[in-house]
Amino acid sequence: MTDQYAVTGNPIAHSKSPSIHTEFAKQTGEDMAYTAVLAPLDGFDRTVDQFISQGGKGMNVTVPFKQEAYQLASVLSERAQLAEAVNTLKFENGNIFGDNTDGAGLVRDIKENLGFNIQNKRVLLLGAGGAARGVILPILKQLPDSLTIANRTAAKAVELQQQFSAYGAITGGGYSDLAGREFDLVINATSSSLNDALPPLPAGVFASHALAYDMMYGKGLTPFLLFAQSEGAAQLADGLGMLVEQAAESFFIWRGVRPATLPVIELLRK
Ligand code: NDP
Repeated sequence: MTDQYAVTGNPIAHSKSPSIHTEFAKQTGEDMAYTAVLAPLDGFDRTVDQFISQGGKGMNVTVPFKQEAYQLASVLSERAQLAEAVNTLKFENGNIFGDNTDGAGLVRDIKENLGFNIQNKRVLLLGAGGAARGVILPILKQLPDSLTIANRTAAKAVELQQQFSAYGAITGGGYSDLAGREFDLVINATSSSLNDALPPLPAGVFASHALAYDMMYGKGLTPFLLFAQSEGAAQLADGLGMLVEQAAESFFIWRGVRPATLPVIELLRK
């Protein structure tokens, strides 16, 4: 019987995950189907239970349920535990395994697709919400020279610094702390691009060889990327590669097979 998978969120109709996983399945010959399931805002657990009772093998979880998925999982990976958020569920032997593949997806996109090595680099991460939290451990595991987190509400960045300080060289604060500092990699993990806004970055934070990475995708050059360009950053990237890579990581967790991601990224860009 064809194995069933799905992505759930609210809203969900816009999700690219069904197209991505359907491409992966086609490419690898895996016998699986992947659909989108809308969960009511007060009915995440119920939606998952229903999917399991229909024989579902795994789910991706998106906004606004990643924290609820973290609560629901009976077994968690280290990276999901630290992220306090789950985007991948695997149902096996009555257990609900929860993982978070967002950070691995980001790191893979930066390293493999963009050819940028994070080791020994000065990394600046903007934002302290769910997306930022999910990528901190995977970035620190790449042994950057330093990881600096800047957030509009500085206290949240300081909290992240305290929580992750055992895992590497990390500091957190506000945007004003960035004046006079320069970084090799600047990642926008705020939701500013959703509103066509620019985080309050001082001039001079992009080294001339810097990679500017916006987790947002599908919006072309965002205010953050335009600012990076005007400041002389050498390389600009949106979050589409991260989206496909986090999906590939989920696919690997479920099926034990790693699909080729570049053809799928190309397909989605068209
Ligand atoms: P949250 O709502 O959890 O966090 C939002 C963050 O953005 C907060 O740190 C907030 O600061 C900050 N922020 C919002 N507006 C501004 C602004 N104008 N200037 C400066 N900071 C601002 O969102 P998420 O963390 O879940 O998501 C963030 C982004 O990441 C989204 O755009 C999402 O699309 C993207 N994303 C992309 C993925 C991919 O695969 N490519 C995966 C996951 C997320 P404060 O705390 O001060 O309010």
